[in-house]
Amino acid sequence: MSDKSWRDNVRQVVPYIAGEQPEGENIIKLNTNENPYPPSPAVAKILREMDTDCFRLYPNMDAAPLVKALSQEYNQPEEKFFVGVGSDDVLANAFLTFFNSNLPVLFPDITYSFYPVWADLFRIPYETVLVDENFAICAKDYERKNGGVIFPNPNAPTALFTSVEQVEKIIQSNKDVVVIVDEAYIDFGGTSVIGLTEKYDNLLVVQTFSKSRSMAGMRIGFAVGNPQLIQAMKDVKFSINSYTMNQTAILAGVEAVKDREYFEGTCQKLIQTREWTKEKLTQLGFIYPQSMANFIFASHKKKSAKEIFTYLKEKGIYVRYWDKPRIDNYLRITIGTQEQMNKVFSALEQYLI
Ligand SMILES: *Cc1c(COP(=O)(O)O)cnc(C)c1O
Repeated sequence: MSDKSWRDNVRQVVPYIAGEQPEGENIIKLNTNENPYPPSPAVAKILREMDTDCFRLYPNMDAAPLVKALSQEYNQPEEKFFVGVGSDDVLANAFLTFFNSNLPVLFPDITYSFYPVWADLFRIPYETVLVDENFAICAKDYERKNGGVIFPNPNAPTALFTSVEQVEKIIQSNKDVVVIVDEAYIDFGGTSVIGLTEKYDNLLVVQTFSKSRSMAGMRIGFAVGNPQLIQAMKDVKFSINSYTMNQTAILAGVEAVKDREYFEGTCQKLIQTREWTKEKLTQLGFIYPQSMANFIFASHKKKSAKEIFTYLKEKGIYVRYWDKPRIDNYLRITIGTQEQMNKVFSALEQYLI
């Protein structure tokens, strides 16, 4: 008997850890950046009226109806869109498609913790680039040999927006690799660089329906880039599983995209509550980078983040905390409804004043 085992051939991965999904009544869930408002009523309507006979057939591989709606909404040709099962699916696909160099891929040290997970899974070398002492992403730090660049804008979990000028500098100084800008939170006040895909053929912009369109549970994400980038992603996707976008998601997605008025209304409400939340946090002795997202990354001048986190959890208020270097005194607080935030501040005032 050899002492070889099938265990020797198992791919070892440390998976991404998402924020918990607690159950129970009266819980205020501000730990995974979901939208507190429901999706557009047009989504509910199409689901009620759906003819299930369409499930007999495979869905359209390119999610064509959704791509058409996106193309109209974002004023870009259909060949520039790739749609996936949440932007996590789109991003994983993009890593697999574009990051094939022996040189390291670059991303910020403080960022979306899924990036190192995909890099490890796909055996892509990577290096992290330090954000500065104010958590800013600086273009000059990305002027070095690499196998690709990815960062969220606004960044997560800091919520800081990197200016379009800085983003364009990063793209310009990395023309021989693909630069991915993950715009998961762009609709909460930032400026998208989708327009720059007309100027730079190495730019891929990724967005999601999970945050600003209140559809995390439906799993829809998309990428915009020049048609050659998109075709390369499709070739990889169609080599794994062509039919990932189910018919329900495609149809519900179309309705969500078409209802611009509702979308803008809920984003506006959320931004108002965010600005109110900033003032309240300041009054209570918190500091935070200027948020352009649907969450705030806050640190208290006197109480430790871990203590506040534990206290809030006991009160049924879930926020996100990471016991990691450089960010272990910060809480990431998702913006809820105004009513939810009122409750959060009653609890915080009891504790801190
Ligand atoms: C939430 C988030 C995503 C992905 O969300 P999906 O639900 O998979 O679309 C991607 N990037 C960042 C930075 C996020 O915060």
